[in-house]
Amino acid sequence: MGEGVLRHYAEHLPLTPQTPMITMGEGETPLVRSSHLEKEVGCGALYFKLEGCNPTGSFKDRGMVVAVAKAMEEGKTTILCASTGNTSASAAAYGAYCGLNTVVLVPKGSVAQGKLSQAVAYGARVVIVDGNFDQALTLVRQLPEYLPMSLVNSVNPYRLQGQKTAAFEVMDSLGDAPDYLCIPVGNAGNITAYWMGFQEYADSGKATKRPKMMGFQAAGAAPIVLGHAVESPETVASAIRIGNPASWQLAERARDESGGAIDSVSDEQILEAYGLMASREGIFCEPASAASMAGLMKLASQGADLKDKTVVCVITGTGLKDPDLAMQQTTTVLQETAPDLESVLSILGRSV
Ligand SMILES: *Cc1c(COP(=O)(O)O)cnc(C)c1O
Repeated sequence: MGEGVLRHYAEHLPLTPQTPMITMGEGETPLVRSSHLEKEVGCGALYFKLEGCNPTGSFKDRGMVVAVAKAMEEGKTTILCASTGNTSASAAAYGAYCGLNTVVLVPKGSVAQGKLSQAVAYGARVVIVDGNFDQALTLVRQLPEYLPMSLVNSVNPYRLQGQKTAAFEVMDSLGDAPDYLCIPVGNAGNITAYWMGFQEYADSGKATKRPKMMGFQAAGAAPIVLGHAVESPETVASAIRIGNPASWQLAERARDESGGAIDSVSDEQILEAYGLMASREGIFCEPASAASMAGLMKLASQGADLKDKTVVCVITGTGLKDPDLAMQQTTTVLQETAPDLESVLSILGRSV
């Protein structure tokens, strides 16, 4: 436990004797069986892969540890990324841990407070771009030509190498691949990485099958579903508010090779699943993460036959990243009382 992605899956990763074996304790996240929603959607078995349990609260740490280790191996002292929030939090944390400088470009006004506060606390140089994520990514892709920096967005192939270890863990836990993997799709790196992981285990005989890859974009940011880039993507799920995904073709390949699908879910569906994950499963996740459950609920409502199927929903990040949204969404009234037993009992419906 706690050995980290590099050591645990060394034989599957592009490491050399010179690669520093850093870890902040990423990976080995829980795969938890659903307590209620499994029956409601009618699955044989439903599991949640809780990627919010990574050191910075999202799956981004799995890929970041590999990208940062390789940057250090190459002698780089500055890492750079564009981010909807979680990549910057992760880069900044690993940068701090490894004594590197971290530069992050984030789109103005569309990064959740929790994520921005992480980047700031870890000491990154945060540059706010008056534009959207896609524009920020276009900019950082050009910067290494001018400044000696290592780009650690998921266009960096080492990121996907690290992220594929989540698929290994799912199969190590279940003893085989699931029938369906439901996953949110933003820049489309993660769906690509999971598919790589599932294929590697199947090819080497460690799994007997491959899952259907079911990717879900937010309806207002669904370029792969629409078949064209979206210039001004809009969704409550800021982590997947991306109009021109970097790994677009690779995600389509994962979809087609696996016999899966990439579909969209509305913000209403995302928020409904976000609420149900917390109130019915005890899992407080980001809205973007709830897109996988929202997608599964959509599949079930369309009559998909899931009754003998094992389904894994990837819960990509923790709800603590965006507490403001949780407070906006709740219908719970916070009640105030005088600090005496009688008042508390009367509020709770019992008089003395
Ligand atoms: C980055 C991220 C996604 C999207 O992953 P992609 O690899 O960009 O498709 C989804 N959810 C959360 C919480 C994320 O941080």
